Amino acid sequence: MDWYPVLAKRVLYPCFDRLRGRNLSRRIAELDEQQWWSAEQIASYQLDRLQALLQHAAATVPYYTTTLQQSGLNPKALTSLKDLQQLPILTKARINENFDRMISTAFPIEQLVAGRTGGSTGVPTRFFHNTAALDYIRAAVIRNSAWAGLHIGEKYIKVSGSHFDYFLMQRLVSRITSRLLRFRWVSAYQLSPETLKNFLHELHTFKPVALCGYASAISQFAHLMKDNNISANVNTIMTSSDTLFPQQRAIIEEVFSCKVFDAYGSREMSIAAECEVHRGMHINADCVYIEILDDQGRPCPPGVTGRIVVTDLHNYAFPFIRYEIGDIGTFADEGTSCPCGRHLPRIASLEGRVDDCIRTPEGMIVTAPAFTIVFSDRPTVKEYQIVQHDWKHLTVNIVKCPKYSSDDEDYLRDCIVRMIGSDIQIAFEYVEGIDRGESGKRRTVISRLPREAVV
Ligand SMILES: [Zn+2]
Repeated sequence: MDWYPVLAKRVLYPCFDRLRGRNLSRRIAELDEQQWWSAEQIASYQLDRLQALLQHAAATVPYYTTTLQQSGLNPKALTSLKDLQQLPILTKARINENFDRMISTAFPIEQLVAGRTGGSTGVPTRFFHNTAALDYIRAAVIRNSAWAGLHIGEKYIKVSGSHFDYFLMQRLVSRITSRLLRFRWVSAYQLSPETLKNFLHELHTFKPVALCGYASAISQFAHLMKDNNISANVNTIMTSSDTLFPQQRAIIEEVFSCKVFDAYGSREMSIAAECEVHRGMHINADCVYIEILDDQGRPCPPGVTGRIVVTDLHNYAFPFIRYEIGDIGTFADEGTSCPCGRHLPRIASLEGRVDDCIRTPEGMIVTAPAFTIVFSDRPTVKEYQIVQHDWKHLTVNIVKCPKYSSDDEDYLRDCIVRMIGSDIQIAFEYVEGIDRGESGKRRTVISRLPREAVV
């Protein structure tokens, strides 16, 4: 009998909350109950939260004070969720142009937690969360993990695909937290025989219930293991942060002999996840309100693919209202409700975040998320894209902001060399815009190596 999960839920989490002045335990209980609400209860809750958020934004966020005035929408008199369509879409470019005006004046800045994303679309963006918003995001992740069969206090390994995570996990506080919450980090931002050895060692000695992390990184481990005739057993695997392709799901399930549960989230928010039925992903609709829009900005009916636009119902520090996150998706037809009994609406399919990997002559594989944080360090980069032409040549295409300087190029070159080594020549090219290609989806990493080399 593993007593630790009970201890974690009843003692550890409440103690953490008290020490940090947070409310995570309460949010976990709240979301646990709300997942069984009827569709009407969910919609009514969303309308209440949205009304409160808009009033707060109108009063304390300069960008929204202006935007709401110009739109003519009265935040005190919302009659339906559809009223939100009167507000303009919040693009990453618009956030970057209005950054200082996006921060709520209701909080002392030192109480806010800064975040950043390199962005799946290659537009680096910075933002903030208030601590209550972070509690909701964490509670949503915990609820989504429970759907996959991983509960609070059970052991898991985080397979990190980003170099930022790697440095974070070196911090003492992170190491203590990971001990108490029973997870281990395995870095996969550079995959090599050495990282595989380290990963297998953790699997055998730590004996986790689950693996969580980037789909690209976990599937690369699965490929390496299959090539070496190695298999392993865990109860469940949760993938997130980049697109999980069917062939990746298949090889992960084969090598680890368990089901894969895909989740859709980002550094900004936790959006949706698969339940045990695996028919699309349930939206965390008590945390975010999702719209899917066509090219003219009109709502797409279920089954029709469009751009995903997210409103975070709980981030009062830096409100994301109608935020175009850069992914493309399709609503499930709600006429067929999910056999799991939850009425949280579902995204049937998720596209976008279609990225390749960079491969080095020494056999190292560097996945797209590894680059995103490097670029998010440079607000002077408006957009970027990395193209590997062959084993010797790589181009970094950059759309500059006016303040971009040669220091930025030196910094980026340094970081990239640290990731991929010095055998590949790196050329920087400055362009007016990044080509979206046939899919309409901008990719941050493109590999022109033969397909079998970049599985
Ligand atoms: Zn379900």
